Amino acid sequence: MSTLSINLGMLETKGIQAAGVIGSDYQKQIEAQTPLGRIGQPQDIAPAPVKPKEIEMDTQYYDDIIGGGKAGKTLAPALVAGRRKTALVERSLNMIGGSCPNIACIPSKTMVASAEVANTVRNSAAYGIKTTPPTVDMSAVIQRKRSVVQSLRPINLNNLHTALGDDLIIGTARFVAPKTIEVATDEGTTRLLTAERLFITVV
Ligand SMILES: Cc1cc2nc3c(=O)[nH]c(=O)nc-3n(C[C@H](O)[C@H](O)[C@H](O)COP(=O)(O)OP(=O)(O)OC[C@H]3O[C@@H](n4cnc5c(N)ncnc54)[C@H](O)[C@@H]3O)c2cc1C
Repeated sequence: MSTLSINLGMLETKGIQAAGVIGSDYQKQIEAQTPLGRIGQPQDIAPAPVKPKEIEMDTQYYDDIIGGGKAGKTLAPALVAGRRKTALVERSLNMIGGSCPNIACIPSKTMVASAEVANTVRNSAAYGIKTTPPTVDMSAVIQRKRSVVQSLRPINLNNLHTALGDDLIIGTARFVAPKTIEVATDEGTTRLLTAERLFITVV
């Protein structure tokens, strides 16, 4: 039996406070070279010895979702509520919750908020407030943005973990066969997931 668990120390290294222990026992690990690894090799040349890749065969899901962003994190709890066995694969703990809270809407809006404060102070005389012209400390603006972004990650992680438990998988997914994805997990293992339906919620 193997255990795939999100290393809590790693979470903290990445600026994420541990939202709870995430991990589980999975089915028997199968040590075998994936047949797909041999595609493209000439048949008449003996393949060089390759260290077998550790592939963990998973139980079949009804739904697999690739991407833990706005779409994926909204869809997953709805599917689970409909009693569908669902896995959600998100490539990075630093992207948990997707682009919006990590690299798009939230970070841009926190910086816009700083600009608005500077603008208000600069124009304070119009409101009857006398002050010296503001100076912008860009590193403090960026630090504020980072702390806002980092404060949201444990919330998104906790929400997804509450909905999905061990079926929240941190790793990068790619299709290897119809209805089958291979996930290179954050921990360096490889998992094969199959599902009746696959939702690709990446941009
Ligand atoms: C600068 C900027 C500002 C924005 N501001 C706003 C705003 O104010 N309001 C608004 O409504 N929208 C805003 N948006 C748009 C918003 O960010 C997107 O509409 C939204 O993030 C799309 O959500 P999504 O779930 O489709 O994709 P995403 O949120 O991008 O989620 C996709 C997820 O898939 C993961 N992923 C990708 N490939 C793989 C893989 N192979 N395996 C596993 N996981 C993978 C990614 O890590 C990511 O977490 C903004 C966008 C930008 C760029």
